[in-house]
Amino acid sequence: DPRLKAISEAIRVVPHFPKPGIMFQDITTLLLDHKAFKDAVDIFVDRYRDMDISVVAGVEARGFMFGPSIALAIGAKFVPLRKPRKLPGEVISEAYVLEYGTDCLEMHVGAVQPGERALVIDDLVATGGTLCAAIRLLERVGAQVVECACVVGLREVKGQHRLNGKPLYILVEPR
Ligand code: 5GP
Repeated sequence: DPRLKAISEAIRVVPHFPKPGIMFQDITTLLLDHKAFKDAVDIFVDRYRDMDISVVAGVEARGFMFGPSIALAIGAKFVPLRKPRKLPGEVISEAYVLEYGTDCLEMHVGAVQPGERALVIDDLVATGGTLCAAIRLLERVGAQVVECACVVGLREVKGQHRLNGKPLYILVEPR
């Protein structure tokens, strides 16, 4: 797809952020480029519009920058998966392992019904730990995760083994 090169080039790489040695993939510069941003959303929309998806679940915070546009365009609802103590209603939680320590994602009880078909969206997948926690949240309430989608993904995770067998769709590799 010829659009992918411009999408990749719109992502800024910031060395040593947030700590030494990390090459941070900064998608805020993609959001500044209207054409590249729209192309990224359009590619996801074209892929998911006929998959009978009723839920787009976005991972805080950068999944929120792509998920709602996709949800509106494919006729699905948007469900935010948030960091702890952000959601005011009753929640279910799933912990996941980070390089140092653990973190947690939460989802409102009642936001997703059993049998719903869900897409999980985030900006970037590295180890896949975050997406796996998102998958567990949705499966705990009886939803079916059709696929996980990210703008940026490391080549190694294309093998999908860390995503509990769920398909993973990525647009570009890190620069
Ligand atoms: P994983 O759980 O797959 O190891 O890490 C993915 C999570 O970390 C995503 O929620 C993503 O937003 C964040 N993340 C890790 N590294 C980067 C990066 O270089 N750029 C951006 N934008 N997000 C990152």
